[in-house]
Amino acid sequence: MIRLAGVGKTYDDGTVAVQSLDLDVEAGELVVLVGPSGCGKSTTLKMINRLIEPTTGSIEIDGRDVTRVDPVKLRRGIGYVIQQVGLFPHQRILTNVMTVPLLYGESKATARARAEELMALVGLDPATYADRFPHQLSGGQRQRVGVARALAADPPVLLMDEPFGAVDPIVRVRLQDEFLRLQRDLGKTVVLVTHDIDEAVKMGDRVAVFAAGGRLAQYATPAELLGR
Ligand code: ADP
Ligand code: ADP
Repeated sequence: MIRLAGVGKTYDDGTVAVQSLDLDVEAGELVVLVGPSGCGKSTTLKMINRLIEPTTGSIEIDGRDVTRVDPVKLRRGIGYVIQQVGLFPHQRILTNVMTVPLLYGESKATARARAEELMALVGLDPATYADRFPHQLSGGQRQRVGVARALAADPPVLLMDEPFGAVDPIVRVRLQDEFLRLQRDLGKTVVLVTHDIDEAVKMGDRVAVFAAGGRLAQYATPAELLGR
């Protein structure tokens, strides 16, 4: 589904963020990129949805070179969830989730029904939370809204950058468990970035371990990594 071949990124200031990276992600697979801060995980994620252009190598999604796909169309097929979810502060939660389908030309009624369904899916009862504003939600709840909003366009691919990083440890475990359950039903192709090896081993079908200098040190299943 996603294939990176010989991908490298050197930023304009000379920082080498990623080097000769080969990575394949199968359809329906959840792959975790893990490693210390600054080893190129976020850069890799952003190259997949073309927020950043690679310096070398090629990236294919579904057999198509991402540089040959219109970036707007590309991103329509890719949900993106980041740690500090940028919800629109002056819009109610339901409106936040509806925005993307509306942009894509859905009718208001369809977008609304879909947004309510997604809120329920991520564990936010629309009857309670639809009309709240982002500042009236906890950090964990805002992350759920971020996931719902990313799912709103029903993208086959989800990219998640430290999606559970901004909440306390107990909430994090709950969000991880709920996302795994959700993922079992949805079967999206997911690439998730974390610096937490426990999260990587818990969540990943396969885990890509990054090392300093943006090199891939290992790419294996959790069982293989743990030597089982
Ligand atoms: P990670 O997600 O693993 O923490 P990043 O991909 O964010 O790592 O960063 C990889 C390296 O690239 C780091 O050394 C970081 O400082 C550097 N970097 C990230 N973004 C930029 C940028 N826009 N310009 C220059 N260097 C950058
Ligand atoms: P979590 O365990 O998800 O981090 P919190 O302990 O932060 O939750 O919040 C508990 C409850 O308080 C949630 O139902 C949330 O909606 C509500 N809440 C949090 N902040 C506010 C706020 N500023 N205004 C109204 N309700 C809030």
